[in-house]
Amino acid sequence: MTTTATRRRHPATLAVHAGERAPRGRFTPVSTPIYHAATFLYDTTAELDGAFEADPSFVYARHGNPTVHALEDALAVLEGGAVACACASGMAALHAALLASEVAPGDRIVAGRDLYGATAGLLNTVFAPQGIDVVYVDAGDPGAVERAVAGGRTRLLLVETLSNPLLRVADLPALADLAHRHGARLLVDGTFTPPVLLRPLEHGADLVVHSTTKYLSGHGDVLGGAVIGGAAYAGPLQSVSRLTGGVPGPNEAWLTLRGLKTLPLRYERQCQNALAIARWLAEHSAIERVHYPGLRTHPHHDLAAGLFDASGAGAQFGAMVAFTIRDADRARVCRFLDRLELCLPATSLGDVYTLVAYPAMASHREVAPAQRARLGIGDDLLRLSAGIEQIDDILADLEQALA
Ligand code: PLP
Repeated sequence: MTTTATRRRHPATLAVHAGERAPRGRFTPVSTPIYHAATFLYDTTAELDGAFEADPSFVYARHGNPTVHALEDALAVLEGGAVACACASGMAALHAALLASEVAPGDRIVAGRDLYGATAGLLNTVFAPQGIDVVYVDAGDPGAVERAVAGGRTRLLLVETLSNPLLRVADLPALADLAHRHGARLLVDGTFTPPVLLRPLEHGADLVVHSTTKYLSGHGDVLGGAVIGGAAYAGPLQSVSRLTGGVPGPNEAWLTLRGLKTLPLRYERQCQNALAIARWLAEHSAIERVHYPGLRTHPHHDLAAGLFDASGAGAQFGAMVAFTIRDADRARVCRFLDRLELCLPATSLGDVYTLVAYPAMASHREVAPAQRARLGIGDDLLRLSAGIEQIDDILADLEQALA
């Protein structure tokens, strides 16, 4: 915008406007700038009017922000979806995905029983009281899933690609087929399996959700989420996002976009480290049991081998490992965690740092001990998210903490 002012303006005015809104040069920044703007200006009201209807629409940042849009484009491409909707967190993404699925009172949502605790909390405390019939099943038992889906007006089947913390693999093609046969949609939380490894839409899922806080941003410094799906979800997702307003800020979107660039490199190393850690733990006398889909002893090893993308060398079975310490009670597990010097006993996953989480204390804290025992999540179970450190250093740290 040019100014026609002929007199020198007051410093109070200059302080607000000086230097802003310089004409755009004939160049394109190599990386996407961080658009710190809540609202956008057009040369004429006719252009502004058109911008309201445009797609993407950059009029007001809750409706669209160029940095956030760049992230959405990248996520849609990586997951093989037509649309992506970036959100402020993984939970905001799950909320948006559930709302965009237009589940109505009397409809049923069938969900895997070992969902992330907050996801079950969202279903139980936000959706169930609205008259949505929420039913939990063992997602690895096709007969139980079919009975639950057929037993109500099921609108949605919700599963995680790798269950937390036992790392059971969801048979996505079979679950998608089952859901579609009954007129339901398959919503998949792919947080544990970034699109380098698994793209659920290619296996029949209708919507994919990520906590981008984890692998996709990858550095443990930003909270975010995303929903990715087919073109039919463009309208519902846009409407939900604009009305509930759980959008990420431009800084968060930019950090996630930058993280994405190194996702394949980080993830290849993380998967190699995870495989080495799983093999090492399986041989260790202090370890009772190791859960890792890359080990032949894992019940879903063959399923994982068929489903996961092996094109990245060594990146075939993911970077999460769960294990139980032999004869360990809570006090012994806590001693192990307190002794770690390199691996971080922190509650997250997918970071460049190796993280060790204690499900009984963290993700499954709210679950009654008897129910945890039924799920196979005892006081002796730990979950490790492999980082990108040098493998010998990780193993040496685990060794000294187990000693
Ligand atoms: N889904 C899964 C599988 C998770 O593990 C998490 C968080 O740990 C979430 C969703 C929620 O993500 P956020 O913490 O970004 O809201």
